[in-house]
Amino acid sequence: MSSQQQCPHKKTASCTHCSKVKMLAYLHNDDSIVWFSFFKDDKRYGRLEMISGEMGSRLQKKHGENIKKMMFFDNHTPGKPIIGEN
Ligand SMILES: [Zn+2]
Repeated sequence: MSSQQQCPHKKTASCTHCSKVKMLAYLHNDDSIVWFSFFKDDKRYGRLEMISGEMGSRLQKKHGENIKKMMFFDNHTPGKPIIGEN
């Protein structure tokens, strides 16, 4: 995915298939959150660790102390190997 126009699923911001990073987070109130990286961040940061960092700080801003655990996965590699967690 080098630009959003290339998503064959017609998504404009992020896509369960085309986004580079999948994030899974658990909150202390027992909610869980799944995010797929924004195409604009995939393009801007390029490296999976950088994209993950951006997603993590966005989650922090939104949920702060309520975050129990965050995990980041390489969404394009079969088996979705973990990139990082905290
Ligand atoms: Zn797509």
